Amino acid sequence: MADYIYTMEIRLSPDQLKAVSLVQEAARAYGMNVYLTGGAIRDILTGLPIRDLDFSVQGNALKLQKDLEHGGAQVEVISEETKTLHAVLAGAVRVEISMARSEIHGKPGTSPQIIPATINEDLRRRDFTVNAIALSLNPGSRGLLLDPFNGSADVEAKLIRVLHNYAFLEDPSRLIRATRFAARFHWELEERTKARYDAAKENNYIESINRKSIGYEIEQIAFEDNPLHIMQALEKEGWLKVLHPQWSTAKIDQNEMSQWMKTRQQLQDIGFTIDAAPLAIYFLTKRMGEKELAEIQRLIPHQEFVAHWQAVEENGRELAKKLSSKDASTPSRAWRVLGSAKPEAILFLDVTSRQQTVSEKIKNYFGKWRQMQQKLPLPEMAEMRITPQLAEYPKIAEEAFLLLLDGKLRNHAEIVKFLKPYEPPPPPPPPPPSRRRSAKAAAGKVAITGQADSAAPKRGRKPKESVAPSARVEPVAAAAGEVAKKIVAKPAAEPQAKKVETKVTKPVPAKPASAQKAQPLPVKKVATPQPAKPAAEKNPVPAKPAAKKTPAAKKSAKTPAKKPAPAPAKHKP
Ligand code: ATP
Ligand code: MG
Repeated sequence: MADYIYTMEIRLSPDQLKAVSLVQEAARAYGMNVYLTGGAIRDILTGLPIRDLDFSVQGNALKLQKDLEHGGAQVEVISEETKTLHAVLAGAVRVEISMARSEIHGKPGTSPQIIPATINEDLRRRDFTVNAIALSLNPGSRGLLLDPFNGSADVEAKLIRVLHNYAFLEDPSRLIRATRFAARFHWELEERTKARYDAAKENNYIESINRKSIGYEIEQIAFEDNPLHIMQALEKEGWLKVLHPQWSTAKIDQNEMSQWMKTRQQLQDIGFTIDAAPLAIYFLTKRMGEKELAEIQRLIPHQEFVAHWQAVEENGRELAKKLSSKDASTPSRAWRVLGSAKPEAILFLDVTSRQQTVSEKIKNYFGKWRQMQQKLPLPEMAEMRITPQLAEYPKIAEEAFLLLLDGKLRNHAEIVKFLKPYEPPPPPPPPPPSRRRSAKAAAGKVAITGQADSAAPKRGRKPKESVAPSARVEPVAAAAGEVAKKIVAKPAAEPQAKKVETKVTKPVPAKPASAQKAQPLPVKKVATPQPAKPAAEKNPVPAKPAAKKTPAAKKSAKTPAKKPAPAPAKHKP
């Protein structure tokens, strides 16, 4: 049987996994069974990106609100009727937690009657087989996949299939959803579903779609990876005008949309967590009149989303102002401004700005300046023991990087000269092995092999070298740009000594992280390598008590040492 928990764990991002744990714990605290459902399961099975997490709990999901908020969730929408919470968690993870329910549909266009139900009944009210699968997160059955309509077979066959003949009549928004999923995944409607779909279209079932579904579907377009493509598919089917009669793809600037996609990707690639949906809807509706815009905004259920949409221009203006001011008058200043800016504002300006200074700085932030990080001489830094293991490393590397950006360090020699004073003292040699342990180990060997190792020292005799066969750092000749370190294990002179594997660090000049592995220095904490991290404080490197005083240490004799500023969570330069 497939291990779906394992699959879930490898497919979800760390932030999504944290969201799963939070919801799971909250439900457990109330003794409610909880399941991961809907698109998340479908996407776990397909291997496609997982947009949001839908959970069903057997019980009133609204009771979990406080616990979720304590865990950092921002609850944005509460539906009393369906007992559903919509929340956003760290890393812009969107979750929806609903009470497992049955829906009894009356006349087309009227709201269904909601009845609390079991998870199996809940799966029956769903739109398509591929969305009617649940994964148990409960202690007794964790990992069990509930798939009463064999949706996983349809996932494999790439088919969208309704659960029964009345699906489109019951809820015509499923016509829009079917088109949206078919366009997103490039899947087909299953034959009978297609026949029902065509009949529904011909008989204008869509006329009885309710306002709430319209608003929900508009919002969902903004969260699509390629919203314009989805809108084109909806328009072709005649659904776009259902969402709003004045909405058409002809009014959309295609260049803007492709730039939005490109820059969004770039920002994600450099480690930003970005909520690009409000910008998407901004661009998709940009040429609509004020009245139409207000109409659409009123339809959208998530008013937080609307607020972000309305703030798009203002946020962009603010950042443009900063980038044109003396706050960003040098490359290093502009780097810091952009490093601490809202990624959404960077995205907005990159797509829209006509100011050359602003565009130029954003372009350099993504390209030229970022590449400067590679000029840090990692091999020499490793030789000087200026490695990510030093608590001061992020600050030293950052300072060097910022000076490089401003042209204040112009060549290799100047960088090395700048770094030299930060060289920490060599590590103390490891203590010699204790006699007792030596004797014990030797005795052990005798017991196993029946004879003592001839190389083993006699009782009471001192080891030849005070450094037992532990790792020793030796600089080695490195090819250009390679990290010149390898850890050499000394030949085992004594059987009792712990064996140390020979490690040769792979040279990866652009990533200080690799140098980290090569350094067995006995320093405190392994700091994350962030050579270009925008500093939260301007103070130089904090001091570390050292035999040889670094400039930082000297300064800190006057002022108490500060911990290096933690990296901004959203930003991995
Ligand atoms: P994605 O979030 O990737 O767009 P999704 O399938 O998760 O896709 P959501 O809008 O998040 O879509 O809805 C979550 C789940 O709720 C769906 O998978 C489906 O099971 C159910 N659902 C949503 N809308 C309907 C509907 N109109 N009729 C029946 N079930 C629905
Ligand atoms: Mg979903």
